[in-house]
Amino acid sequence: MRFRAAVLHRPGEALRVETVQLGALRPEDVLVRIRAASLCHTDLEVIEGQLVYPMPIVLGHEAAGTVEALGAGVAGLERGDSVVLSWNPHCGHCFYCEQDQPILCDTYRRLGPLGVQFDGTTRLSLDGVAVHHLMFLGAFAEYCVVPAQSAVRVPKAIPFDRACLIGCGVMTGVGAATRVAKLGYGASALVIGCGAVGLSAVQGARLAGAGRIIALDLDPRKLALARRLGASDVIDGAAGDPVPAIRALTEGRGADFVFEAAGSPRAFRLSAEAVRPGGQIVWLGKVNVDDEVAFRWGALMGEKRIQRSSYGGARPQRDFPLLAQAYLDGALKLDELISRRLGLAEINDGFAALKRGDVVRAVVTFDA
Ligand SMILES: [Zn+2]
Ligand SMILES: [Zn+2]
Repeated sequence: MRFRAAVLHRPGEALRVETVQLGALRPEDVLVRIRAASLCHTDLEVIEGQLVYPMPIVLGHEAAGTVEALGAGVAGLERGDSVVLSWNPHCGHCFYCEQDQPILCDTYRRLGPLGVQFDGTTRLSLDGVAVHHLMFLGAFAEYCVVPAQSAVRVPKAIPFDRACLIGCGVMTGVGAATRVAKLGYGASALVIGCGAVGLSAVQGARLAGAGRIIALDLDPRKLALARRLGASDVIDGAAGDPVPAIRALTEGRGADFVFEAAGSPRAFRLSAEAVRPGGQIVWLGKVNVDDEVAFRWGALMGEKRIQRSSYGGARPQRDFPLLAQAYLDGALKLDELISRRLGLAEINDGFAALKRGDVVRAVVTFDA
């Protein structure tokens, strides 16, 4: 079959909406008709060449849609099911899968940088040339073929433009608080950086029962949003050293948990300065892998724990339906994260807005 997809041919270029060809479905495949796909910074890093993938490639890894067709070997899904896509397929039996760390799965890490499907093949082509898939998906397209484990059924009542957010940023942020940090009732949490991931960490801390949730950002609009989503206190990171204010809000000790979601050397340093002795830091942001980040050694002492997390400890089959239900129950707010909806043809404008920091999430919607 043929359908439209936004294809990146070279880093630094605009995405081009083109008609790609999909090969035959394999037994473990699910064909998903994409209904909404949001723009994430990881896609932007590929466009800008900071993350290197084979080209041409279809980006897009935060998406939701309906099951259109099933490979002969797929059980447990039906045509028409609403699904959120997971970008972490895993083999289930390698060393890391057995450690309950699917994000480190040997096959996942070996094949991910090759821009292929989880069986090592590509499925799309353009004028006879193979087209690659970002993060085993490639969701900036009318259809997306995924391994069955990556199509996670969610309740049909959740709108697709909200549901898609669960697949990356929301899972990462909420999971950082509820799955990685195991933040408990009454604890204090500091969230550095209030984009989609940081705002979701604010919500994760709220859902886990944090007593005080301090949000820090350089943009007052994002701090206002953080308050709406559950922050009890906000700090303007542009107004001088924030550490005294953080200490003043945490009985002089520093926060029990610090979630870094800004992805800058300053934010990483602040995370270490602002956590209390014995507290836990979760790093969610990133800088280029060959960059160095310097710390004041004294800030790292005091029995502090640091964990880096890419996907918030996600177990998508367990967590996506819970997050979707939390939205339907009113406990998890997603409407507020969507700054803009756009068509596939406008996707480059969306990335420009994401780069400027003008949007929390811009979502491409595919109308029926
Ligand atoms: Zn993402
Ligand atoms: Zn594995």
